Amino acid sequence: MIKGILQFSHHLIEEAVNKGETVIDATCGNGHDTVFLSKVVGENGHVFGFDIQDQAIQHTQQELARNKVTNATIIKDSHSNAIHHLTVDQLTSLGGAVFNLGYLPGSDKGIVTKSETTILAIEGILTHLKENGVVVLVVYHGHAGGDTEKRNIMEYVHQLDQKQYSVLYYGFINQKNSPPFIIGIEKKTK
Ligand code: SAH
Repeated sequence: MIKGILQFSHHLIEEAVNKGETVIDATCGNGHDTVFLSKVVGENGHVFGFDIQDQAIQHTQQELARNKVTNATIIKDSHSNAIHHLTVDQLTSLGGAVFNLGYLPGSDKGIVTKSETTILAIEGILTHLKENGVVVLVVYHGHAGGDTEKRNIMEYVHQLDQKQYSVLYYGFINQKNSPPFIIGIEKKTK
């Protein structure tokens, strides 16, 4: 019935992104979303995946190989530099981006996304995003430092101009232990 967090994040992407477009996986992690995004854009589209951790890059590359994905480029760099890795054509066809915030499960809990770089990345992506493209943030915030990132991100998305962006909040308000929630940002006008 009601879509879970992962299902709903995929739903937003599927609604906004078309075959042949460029998409960004801003936090590859274990690579599951990278594989998902590669299917959404199809063989004529392209996924750019970013992570700063070797383990995440390796896991993602293994996951791409296992799924025979050929339309993805994985880059070990901060997502705050994401747009600088794309060509003008790729930026023009930018349909969406996904961020899974927090730490990589099963890895170093000290390596977490940080609001300064997350917000820089979102800003850069929003500048180039196509009309009706979407940026999906899956906000995990139960870990040390998670509260600060959540607060800063909420402050940032609250002030986005409603003429230019629709900002959606989706989450389960009766779940215990800081459950993740989604912020979806749709660009209304280019
Ligand atoms: N909490 C989520 C998974 C988040 S994984 C879950 O439970 O499913 C977050 C990933 O972001 C990690 O692999 C981490 O290495 C990566 N990361 C952290 N800072 C980053 C940055 N500035 N740029 C790109 N990736 C980053």
